[in-house]
Amino acid sequence: MSEAEASRDIWQDLRHQARQLLELELSDEHLRRFASFTGLLLEWNRHTNLTGITAPAEIAIKHFLDSLSLLRAAPGLDGLRLIDVGTGAGFPGLVIAMLFPRAKVTLLDSTLKKLRFIEQASQELGMSNIRCLHARAEDAGRQRAHRQAYDIVTARAVAPMPALMEYTLPLAKLGGQVIAMRGQAAYAETSGAARAITTLGGELFEIEEIRLPGLANPRYLVVIDKIAPTPRRYPRSAGTPTRDPLR
Ligand code: SAM
Repeated sequence: MSEAEASRDIWQDLRHQARQLLELELSDEHLRRFASFTGLLLEWNRHTNLTGITAPAEIAIKHFLDSLSLLRAAPGLDGLRLIDVGTGAGFPGLVIAMLFPRAKVTLLDSTLKKLRFIEQASQELGMSNIRCLHARAEDAGRQRAHRQAYDIVTARAVAPMPALMEYTLPLAKLGGQVIAMRGQAAYAETSGAARAITTLGGELFEIEEIRLPGLANPRYLVVIDKIAPTPRRYPRSAGTPTRDPLR
């Protein structure tokens, strides 16, 4: 099988898996964008540390399908403001932006070189619905333009739950939601963050289990409703939420 045929198979498989797992119909244009983005990711990854996953078939499942699994908790995102905290190379935020051209997606990270990659990739893909924000989440959460400004706040693989709640809940507007993408320990981590969630104005809505094809362990979407304003003293200064987590 040629390289081009193998690549076509990977994305056709993803289309099938998205249909099965998420009842999501991906178009040829979506698949073309995912493949182009993967090419750019692997090219940049030669000199900039963006991902430890480098096999395209694995990228399709562990980066793209996993990012898309967010739709199980938030099926309709068009027209909404979403911020992806600690987006890295753009997972899950950039993938969601590709799918919902009318969503306004902010990709936040404290590492500039990752955002430079996203800026170039999104330009090459002709995307106009994203903006990059180079900041610590704790600082953004105190800025008027970002505090309590987002309908949906997402984060995958960024920090332990109590610190993550202090990064994300201040950014969610009242009536909005935080969706934390977690691994096996999701239930225990969420219990451990119960005080932080309440203190910051949140309430646990649900924990949704996601089983990705070929992966032994399930993944979880921890969905938190923003039900009360975050008290003014939060988030605390950069570094404090991880050094001295709310308990
Ligand atoms: N979300 C991406 C993914 O799942 O592939 C990237 C995960 S990577 C392990 C964690 C990212 O969070 C890094 O890019 C790091 O720079 C960013 N990060 C960690 N703490 C942060 C903070 N307090 N504010 C902003 N970004 C942060």
